[in-house]
Amino acid sequence: MLLSEFGTKFTREAGINSLMEDLGNALAGGDMIMMGGGNPGNIPEVQAAFQEQLARISADADEFRKLTGIYDPPQGEKQFIAALAELLSREYGWPIKPENIALTNGSQSAFFILFNMFAGRYPDGGHKRIMLPMTPEYIGYADAGLSEDFFVSSKPTIEMLDEHTFKYHVDFDHLNIDENVGAMCVSRPTNPTGNVLTDNEMARLIAMAKEHDVPLIVDGAYGLPFPDLVYVDAKPVWDEHLILCLSLSKLGLPAVRTGIVIAQPEIIKAVASVNAIVNLAPGSFGAMLTKDFVRSGEILRLSREVVKPCYQAKAEKAVATLHRELDGLPFALHKAEGAMFLWLWLRDFPLSSHELYQRLKQKGVLVVSGHYFFPGLQEEWGHTHECLRITYSQDEELVEKGLKIMAEEIRRLYADK
Ligand code: PLP
Repeated sequence: MLLSEFGTKFTREAGINSLMEDLGNALAGGDMIMMGGGNPGNIPEVQAAFQEQLARISADADEFRKLTGIYDPPQGEKQFIAALAELLSREYGWPIKPENIALTNGSQSAFFILFNMFAGRYPDGGHKRIMLPMTPEYIGYADAGLSEDFFVSSKPTIEMLDEHTFKYHVDFDHLNIDENVGAMCVSRPTNPTGNVLTDNEMARLIAMAKEHDVPLIVDGAYGLPFPDLVYVDAKPVWDEHLILCLSLSKLGLPAVRTGIVIAQPEIIKAVASVNAIVNLAPGSFGAMLTKDFVRSGEILRLSREVVKPCYQAKAEKAVATLHRELDGLPFALHKAEGAMFLWLWLRDFPLSSHELYQRLKQKGVLVVSGHYFFPGLQEEWGHTHECLRITYSQDEELVEKGLKIMAEEIRRLYADK
């Protein structure tokens, strides 16, 4: 089959494809403990709230027809958008109107649209890239460019908080934005590390975006204002240079595929235009299911009082388990500030993180090798092969069992060194 450049690029072995396939095959293959993906856990109170809402919609013929029988405009479901604009201005004083919001089929597709809108070839013949100011960063960005040479990224600085805990920071001293940067992008909290960029780092990034007149895309899939998987003090931020991308997925609705883009009206129009060409319209399901929660502000309460504490408790338990099980070894964990991942750094480990991943898979434990999470990093850095991402969103007993198996293997391999 002869394929176009697009066809070739999007069908070749991409990091995310091979990773998803590998995880999928391993899971299908038997009794695996899944600590590899980004699937949210099941929170009964949240599920019950959505189930009730679905029952109410299903019982109302007009609402049901809206849910399933009508195309929304390419910008997305109007009542949800109006309710969200109202919530954000009421709650945070942000000057957000409906023309500042568009919906997409999952935030993943929002990144595809936005990245390709701001990076790639420009009409004047120039070529721009997406800058990731700090790696490790989300693997899902890595293959989203329509052209090659799409990302440029930077190493972080590492602050040791104690012998076994560290935190990454943006290395502003080495962050260069030139005319070849079309936009910057950060996930906050960060997948894979659970890092939350500080308010000060956000202010400095926004100042850089302003100075160079490029948008700063903030990926809030795990963040603020919802689902609020943030366990440290951090303010939700808005600025006219920001493009804030939110998602309903980590609230517990990954299958409804609802992403939310909040930006200047001209960007929203452009996103809606791509939506129309690629999808006709974004799906209505997530918007219909949650619009009453957005209207009442219940989405913020659920996030703050139910979803966040649930993941925070899981994080604390997983951290305690690893500290206990790895005691005496030269390990360090990134401070668990948010999201649903632990990021384990194994210093002077005899195997690469990918080799360790393979060993753990044989033992029935699935994690993700850290080397995937450095898209756009051009320099060699040994650290990229010393880390693992561990998802703790699933059943706590299983996670505990998985962590113990993992720690035992790590201890054995250190001892054999
Ligand atoms: N951003 C981050 C950091 C993620 O981890 C994910 C999914 O795991 C996404 C975006 C995309 O999520 P969705 O397309 O379900 O909104």
